[in-house]
Amino acid sequence: MQQYPKITLRKGKEESLKRFHPWVFSGAIQRADEGIEEGDTVAVLTSGGELVGYGHYQIGSIAVRMLTFSDTPIDAALYSKRLRQALAMRQALGIAGTAYRLVHGEGDFLPGLVIDIYGTTAVVQAHSPAMHLARHIIADALCDIEELHVDNVYYKSETTLPFKAQLDPQNEYLRGQFVTDIAEENGLRFHIDWLRGQKTGFFIDQRDNRRLLQQYSQGKRVLNMFCYTGGFSCYAMRGGALKVDSVDSSAKAIQLTDENIALNFDEADRQRHRAIAVDAFKYLAEMQQGDYDLIVLDPPAFAKHKNALRNALIGYRKLNTKAIEKIAHGGILFTFSCSQAVSREQFRLAVFSAAAAARRKVRILHQLTQPADHPINIYHPEGEYLKGLVLYIE
Ligand code: SAH
Repeated sequence: MQQYPKITLRKGKEESLKRFHPWVFSGAIQRADEGIEEGDTVAVLTSGGELVGYGHYQIGSIAVRMLTFSDTPIDAALYSKRLRQALAMRQALGIAGTAYRLVHGEGDFLPGLVIDIYGTTAVVQAHSPAMHLARHIIADALCDIEELHVDNVYYKSETTLPFKAQLDPQNEYLRGQFVTDIAEENGLRFHIDWLRGQKTGFFIDQRDNRRLLQQYSQGKRVLNMFCYTGGFSCYAMRGGALKVDSVDSSAKAIQLTDENIALNFDEADRQRHRAIAVDAFKYLAEMQQGDYDLIVLDPPAFAKHKNALRNALIGYRKLNTKAIEKIAHGGILFTFSCSQAVSREQFRLAVFSAAAAARRKVRILHQLTQPADHPINIYHPEGEYLKGLVLYIE
């Protein structure tokens, strides 16, 4: 057994860990070695003193995130191995483009870590103090994997780490430097602003859903609500939409959308597109019934935590009611929730109530989820966060 500080569980509390669920909740802990600090690697033991595995400790409701369920230490070799395994899986997927998620936390057996790749740049986000402390080991491992072709590692955790941990992370290049901010997805090009943008700069998780939208766009009047960088808008344009209106309350997002449209379409073609900075609820309230044939609703997570769930569901219902009421006859609605706290069933129920409130005939055409480079660890169902429905509205 490794010489890590020890955490001993209450009797019976090893059950979910025996099924490889990677979280130890603080309430499951019987005893912790003196002097354990946030960010420490710890050994987790059953009440009988048997080793369960090793994980990362932090103060909070999730006290330990497990990385191994055996006597394998958490060291540079382990990070390197997990990154290689993550890459091998992505290679098997044959992702079209230079933008993909290499590490999706628990889904890649690296809880607390997210890594997105944009060409030769990796954008790393730590969600736990221990991953923050390991950032240089991770950056070295990324640059050492030749097949990955990563020369630049940008660390971006100012907003993702628990601020009480007082780690004071800096957003900075750990390796290399700024080279280009343009990445490609299914043949479309996008500026990715990892320096100032949300998350790692781009919502890679909508890649497959955007491609599906393209297939429905020919000759349609499209509204891309919550457009951010204009991902869905570019696909709708390429799919032959009659016109595309992109709406976001953030002026920065509107600017990014315009830049990405300009990157892919010439000036004459761009006449089909408009980007509007306005609040979604205001826009939906003021638009006319029948203005659009195809609407995308991809709002930010309304429920970041379980206790915000009720209001989030009300939010989804209101938003979808307006869109279903106003969409043209024979219209198609792509509607999403990226809140982890909202289950697939709860989201579907919110949209069902919206359809009933709007008194329209509604059928489900597709049920969407996150793409394969955002895998769900089968022992950690919480990893499934993106839910979408494509609806046909008479
Ligand atoms: N669909 C995007 C991602 C959306 S992220 C993509 O495919 O990349 C959510 C976006 O909603 C953000 O850009 C944020 O600025 C915007 N937003 C948040 N609240 C809003 C509101 N009330 N009205 C309009 N936009 C809003």
